[in-house]
Amino acid sequence: MISRWEVLSDWLVSDVHGVGRVSTPSSPEGVPGPAAGTVLSYSELVESSPDALLVVAEDGTIRMVNAAAERMFGYLRDELVGSDHRLLLAEGFQNGLQGLFFNLRRDAAHPQVHTPATLDDDAAAAGTDTAPVEAYGRRRDGTEFQAEVAGALLVTGAVTGAGSGYGTASMLAAIRDTSHRPATDDGLRAAMSLLSATLESTADGILVVSSAGEIAGVNNQFVSMWGIPRELLARRDDAAIMAFVLDQLQDPARFVEKVEALYADPGAESRDALHFRDGRTFERYSRPQKVADEVVGRVWSFRDVTAAKVAQDRISKAMADLAEQSAQLKALAFQDGLTGLSNRQLFSDRLAAALAEPSGTAVDVLLLDLDDFKEVNDILGHHAGDQMLIEVGRRLRTCVRPGDVVARLGGDEFVVLLIGSLDPDAVAARIVDSLRVPVWIDGTMLRPSLSLGLASISEDAVDASELLRRADVAMYAAKAAGKNRYLRFRPEMMEALVDRNNLEAGLRLAVDNGQIAVHYQPIVSTALGKVVKVEALARWIRDGALVPPKHFIPAAERSGLIVEIGTEVLLRGCTELKAWLQEDASRSLAVNVSGVQLQHGDFAELVLAVTESCGVDPRQLVLEVTESVFFDDDCHVIKQLVSLRTAGVRVALDDFGTGYSSLGRLQDLPVDTLKIDQSFVAMINTGTEQLPILSAMIDMAHGLGLTVTAEGVETAAQAGHLMDLNCDSLQGFLFARPQPETGLQPALDQAARAISTLRGDRVPGNR
Ligand code: C2E
Ligand code: CA
Ligand code: CA
Repeated sequence: MISRWEVLSDWLVSDVHGVGRVSTPSSPEGVPGPAAGTVLSYSELVESSPDALLVVAEDGTIRMVNAAAERMFGYLRDELVGSDHRLLLAEGFQNGLQGLFFNLRRDAAHPQVHTPATLDDDAAAAGTDTAPVEAYGRRRDGTEFQAEVAGALLVTGAVTGAGSGYGTASMLAAIRDTSHRPATDDGLRAAMSLLSATLESTADGILVVSSAGEIAGVNNQFVSMWGIPRELLARRDDAAIMAFVLDQLQDPARFVEKVEALYADPGAESRDALHFRDGRTFERYSRPQKVADEVVGRVWSFRDVTAAKVAQDRISKAMADLAEQSAQLKALAFQDGLTGLSNRQLFSDRLAAALAEPSGTAVDVLLLDLDDFKEVNDILGHHAGDQMLIEVGRRLRTCVRPGDVVARLGGDEFVVLLIGSLDPDAVAARIVDSLRVPVWIDGTMLRPSLSLGLASISEDAVDASELLRRADVAMYAAKAAGKNRYLRFRPEMMEALVDRNNLEAGLRLAVDNGQIAVHYQPIVSTALGKVVKVEALARWIRDGALVPPKHFIPAAERSGLIVEIGTEVLLRGCTELKAWLQEDASRSLAVNVSGVQLQHGDFAELVLAVTESCGVDPRQLVLEVTESVFFDDDCHVIKQLVSLRTAGVRVALDDFGTGYSSLGRLQDLPVDTLKIDQSFVAMINTGTEQLPILSAMIDMAHGLGLTVTAEGVETAAQAGHLMDLNCDSLQGFLFARPQPETGLQPALDQAARAISTLRGDRVPGNR
């Protein structure tokens, strides 16, 4: 055993203060080494020490003990070597040696500050001025005794001074039994023990800094929370520790500012949060350390609140998300999903609010509806319809001020609310105008139009529903007046609305009472120069006056009465023209058929039953339909027309060129004749103008094997031009106006004369 101490003495570089000096032989001031003539070896010196001497490694393991240690603690040397030194310390003092060790290392790192000037150069590695500490030892039998522990650092390996690397360090601890001294107050001992245990058991990291700015103490938690390397702490280089700490923070400048502010005000307390760059958050609490009312330092305590902060952040985020969602839901509740405009609810709310304002504020409601929107949907499909509505919504927005409400009420109905507008009529005109520029959808150019009704609050107090009703009435009037326009509400319009309702009731009566009459208009063949066809047109004789179909046909279609009216016209036509038809098999009767009639599955049967019962050859019947009947989703319209054609009935496409028709579709339709709409004929004034669209239509129809009839021919110039374009048949006031059966013969004669005159006037090849 002794030899161990001898071995130790060879590498021992130490200065054991307060226990006795152990110096290297070369130390100028050390106790003389085992030079020649010295009887006492180091090991004998150590073994004869009355104090228990332990060499404790950095990890707390006992490396060596002397005889006094065996005696003092009642253990055998072999039992102690390799054991943890805490075995020898009473509860509550078990960190004492670690603290001592820490202080020694710290002192060793700062020889220029803490090392006495007289310290030997050779002993530069050893910290020496750490005072012995009070502790309680524990013997093998469990008894405890009061002791004083002094330590010295033992360093092996290269040592070049503060700030550089250290070799392996151990500590020489000298323990002196001080039981003979007046016993420390038991209360104080308990308090110290409690304090030490408390400090180490708290989850907070604690740092105590003296008023002089030195670190007076830290607990283990502080070191591990900040991840400060032991050797950095040991160097006690405040600047280096500060740099290490600051490097971890998101806002180092604030940290420094706070520390400086607290040092400037030693009595101040503070609590704040520190945000780490790695996402952690510490709560920092600082208060002065006082001894009997005198500030001797500052206690810093740090608590890791990352988990709490994360939870808090999550809650905040969840709350924010919730708020956003509810805002979105709220927005959606007031938004039209398709166009992104406001919806009816928002419009109603705003209108109600505007009407609740003190009187004097102008409030205008502009209600509008697209003209013939159903056709876009039917012909081009719902996708195109939606695109159209979106585009219209976009254009509406450009016509108003940013704060004005533009809402879609549903379908193709929109409304604009103007509050405090100086010139609502100008806005209405602008809106109608906004559709002048064609709309392109899926490569197709469309020219939609809209009808708009404008109603404003005036002196007479009106509520929201009345205002909206007035706008609706005005809009209806705009439609009735020919669409693609705006009209401001006038009280007379209400009467028109009443009329409209009366119309339907009256029409029902008329149908029941046989007041539906049929007028006939001749159609002449340009090639044959004679009347070859007659179109039957419905008339309503109401109180002795003729109601034009333009007024009652839409009402009849809305109410479904068109089925009965259509059947009546067919029946009367076949009956009244039977004789004329029988005179010449090439003559035919044309009857208009509404899409509503074709919706009925038995329409074809009905038609054939009528012709048969009247004794009219189906080959002498022409059914005039408009293009829109073909765009119905269920194809039984086409099936019916196909079966009728099989029976010899011919089909004419009426009003061709209006609506959303296209020449390209023609070849797919079960039709025999094309009736060019009056609006194209009206383009012919002098008969010398270039109208490529007319010639294209006629050539195209001929190319597809169809015959062409031009409607609304009123002048000889028009007739001549159409004949030049090889139009097969002509119809119009130039030849004859529609006449009742009683006036049919004169009309036929007039028409025949007119066409033969036209043909006679024409000198072939000289036009
Ligand atoms: P439509 O089928 O295009 O009939 C031609 C219309 O043009 C007729 O108007 C006729 O009077 C008018 N017209 C003929 N020649 C000229 C002319 O030279 N100049 C002008 N400006 N107009 C001319 P009407 O009889 O008022 O009928 C209007 C529309 O009502 C018809 O247009 C047709 O769509 C519908 N209609 C008439 N009768 C019936 C019917 O029995 N059933 C169905 N479903 N619709 C009918
Ligand atoms: Ca017609
Ligand atoms: Ca027509």
